[in-house]
Amino acid sequence: MDAQTLAAVPTEQLLPWLMLALFLYGLCELAFVHFRLRRARLREYGMAFRALGFNLLVGIFITAIAGPLNKTLLALWGASLSPFDAGLGAAGWLYGFVVYEMLYWLQHFLAHKVRLLWCLHSPHHAPGAMHMFVGFNHSFLETVFYMPFMLGFVTALLGVHPVVVVVITFVDILWGNFLHVSDDVLKRRLGPLEYFMQTPSYHRVHHAQNVRYMDTNYNSITLLGDWLMGTLQPLDDAETVRYGITRDVDTASFLDVHFGEFVLLWRDLKQACSAREFLGYLLRAPGWRPSGEQQTAKARKLRALQTNAAEVA
Ligand SMILES: [Zn+2]
Ligand SMILES: [Zn+2]
Repeated sequence: MDAQTLAAVPTEQLLPWLMLALFLYGLCELAFVHFRLRRARLREYGMAFRALGFNLLVGIFITAIAGPLNKTLLALWGASLSPFDAGLGAAGWLYGFVVYEMLYWLQHFLAHKVRLLWCLHSPHHAPGAMHMFVGFNHSFLETVFYMPFMLGFVTALLGVHPVVVVVITFVDILWGNFLHVSDDVLKRRLGPLEYFMQTPSYHRVHHAQNVRYMDTNYNSITLLGDWLMGTLQPLDDAETVRYGITRDVDTASFLDVHFGEFVLLWRDLKQACSAREFLGYLLRAPGWRPSGEQQTAKARKLRALQTNAAEVA
C-alpha cells in the first residue's frame, strides 16, 4: 500500500473538513460562553490561538525542509517494517482497535509519568477552564512527533493495517475533541455511553488537579485501557473539578504554558549532583525529588489517603 492509495480512504479526505468543523464549533462555543454567559477566560483563549498559529508555522516549516510528517505516513513506514499484517477482515479491525486503544493509554500514561514527556503534554493540561480550544492546545512536539510515532508508526509496526489506523484516527480526533466541550454548554452526562465510552465527564476528571483525580482516564475513545489498567475514575458530583496543573503557571502566556516546564526541568538538571539524579529528574514522574518530600501524583495521593485514614481514626 502506498500514500496515494491511503489518501483515497474516505476519512482521510474528510479529515481537513472535520478539523474545520471542530474549529468553527469552538468559535461558536466561545461566542456563547463569552456573550451569553460572560464567563470566557479570553486571555487563555488568546494563548490557545497563539499556540495554534505557532503549530501551523512549525508544520509548514517542517514540511518545507523535510516533507510532510504525519500519522498516515508513519503508519505506512511502520507497516513496511512489520513482520505481519492483521488485514482488513473483522479480526483485523478488532485487533487494530484494541492495539490502538492500549497504545493510546500507554503513550498518555507515559506522558504523565515521565517528566521529559510531561514537558510535551503539560500545555494541554495548563488551562484553568474546559472548552474546545483546550482540545487544540497541544505542544507541536506532541502532535508532530510523539503521538504520530506512538499511534501511527508503532500501531502499524504491531501489524495494524494502515487503513485501520487512518479510520480510527478520524474517530479519535472527532471524539477526543468532543471530550473538551465546555461544561458551560454541556453539563449532563451521556446516559448508557458512560458505561463504555470516554465522555466529557471522564475527561473533565482527567484535566483536574484535584489529588484524587490526578493521572486517571487516559483513553480518548473507550474506557478499555483505563478499565484494564486500573486508572478509571468517574466524576464524583461531591468533588468539584479544579482544572489546570499544580505549578504556578500564567495560563495567558503562550511561552509559560508551552515552554515553562522545560525551563523548570533545565533548572533541576543543572543542579543534579549525579547521573542518578540527572536521570531521575529527566525520566521519573513529575514532582520527583532526589531527597525530601516527593511531590509526584502517587505521593500526593498516598498522603491524602493517610490524612483521611487519620481523620477517620
Ligand atoms: Zn493528559
Ligand atoms: Zn484533554
